[in-house]
Amino acid sequence: MARIVVIGGSLGGLLAANVLHRQGHEVCVLEKVRGSMDGRGAGIVTHDALFSALGQAGLQVDETLGVQVRQRVALDAQGRTEVCIDMPQVLTSWSRLYDLLHQLLPPSLYVQGVTVQKIEQQSNAAVVHGLGPQGPQTWSAELVVASDGIRSVVRQQYAPLVQPCYAGYVAWRGVCDEAVLSDRTLQTVFETFGFGLPLGEQLIGYPVAGPGNDVRVGHRAYNFVWYRPAPAPVLARLLTDADGVSHQGGISPNKVDWRQVADMRQAARTLLAPQFAEMIEKTAQPFLQPIYDLSSERVAFGRVALMGDASFVARPHIGMGVTKAAQDAVALADAIEQHGATPQALQAYEERRVPECEAAVARARWLGAYMQSQAQSASAQASSRSAHEVVSETAIDMDRYGHQSSFPGAAAVRLRPKQPGQSLSP
Ligand SMILES: Cc1cc2nc3c(=O)[nH]c(=O)nc-3n(C[C@H](O)[C@H](O)[C@H](O)COP(=O)(O)OP(=O)(O)OC[C@H]3O[C@@H](n4cnc5c(N)ncnc54)[C@H](O)[C@@H]3O)c2cc1C
Repeated sequence: MARIVVIGGSLGGLLAANVLHRQGHEVCVLEKVRGSMDGRGAGIVTHDALFSALGQAGLQVDETLGVQVRQRVALDAQGRTEVCIDMPQVLTSWSRLYDLLHQLLPPSLYVQGVTVQKIEQQSNAAVVHGLGPQGPQTWSAELVVASDGIRSVVRQQYAPLVQPCYAGYVAWRGVCDEAVLSDRTLQTVFETFGFGLPLGEQLIGYPVAGPGNDVRVGHRAYNFVWYRPAPAPVLARLLTDADGVSHQGGISPNKVDWRQVADMRQAARTLLAPQFAEMIEKTAQPFLQPIYDLSSERVAFGRVALMGDASFVARPHIGMGVTKAAQDAVALADAIEQHGATPQALQAYEERRVPECEAAVARARWLGAYMQSQAQSASAQASSRSAHEVVSETAIDMDRYGHQSSFPGAAAVRLRPKQPGQSLSP
């Protein structure tokens, strides 16, 4: 069995490490963050492929992984139901998945406080150079799996020209406790996968486990993601804290300028259903993330492979970031089982995953593009998708719900021509 170093100990790295460890390999995860990683991320939409990968990682999970919803609803700005569709789905959270995967891996295999700086390849091994608590250190392995996220230092070493491309809008995010919400909000939207569709914008939300991963009624929370256009100068302001310090690489939740939060809450009261505005009002610390596309032509470089957000980032409309990382982990393990811990295995992994990930990125761009065309022409007429289509095609399990007809494929990503007289409602 081989020695494999995994760089990055978030969900992608943990999925790969657990699947490979279970295959009998000697794995070592290097994670730069010291101490607790809890409190990162928010809600995660699940798909059948994620459940299957969790099984391969050694976790027997069912719908208790999160909160199950039965319906999707879209609310108009007055809070009335515009669309309602039966569409069961399990919604979980980053911290629930992280806890399960972290506990599964023997603690000695998960090393925190190490920032990887570069990799050196030799004929029969790769050497990882990192900076740990004791200073510079090296780790030698037959294979290195880089799951170090969208700003991957490993991708920058092997494919420096591949850079994230800003999509032109941000996601305001937050999680609001169920216990503080009004009866109207609880009864009309809390139990559903909810949508708000102002012109050129989109809000989605769904219930998730509350603090301590509590899924009891009354103890859960509602996770929301509100996509809003932000041209470059607006983005620069959003990423600047109240002291005037710029955080262009990403602003942490506690640094977001309170004036930006106040403006966003004011916009919510004007543009969104009162139920969503209430959630946003009652969320203690809304935070924001710019939305990016990222596509790599190659993900295998000798004995080094990229996976997860380090290789491809699909806009979150597809709700597949974690599932995509899980599929990478499974594909890597399959290739290593077939070809051994060799560069040939990573080549086989690349051939399988690049087309699949390109398709995910393309579909996610397509799911977001209608908002941008609305924003540009400031007219619902620019949209080629009805509210019903948006609700039924966002963050779905393609294996379960299909909808291939509205998405011609990665090679032909385009919006359907608008039908005369088509309105925003179904
Ligand atoms: C608004 C929004 C909503 C989303 N919603 C969903 C959803 O519903 N469903 C879903 O599946 N996905 C969703 N995603 C995407 C999902 O969060 C990511 O795809 C997923 O977390 C990627 O995991 P990763 O492990 O590849 O990368 P990351 O989570 O970015 O982890 C990278 C890790 O590497 C570590 N690291 C970085 N550099 C180094 C270094 N030099 N040395 C050592 N360690 C390093 C970091 O500290 C980090 O822990 C969403 C994303 C956004 C922005």
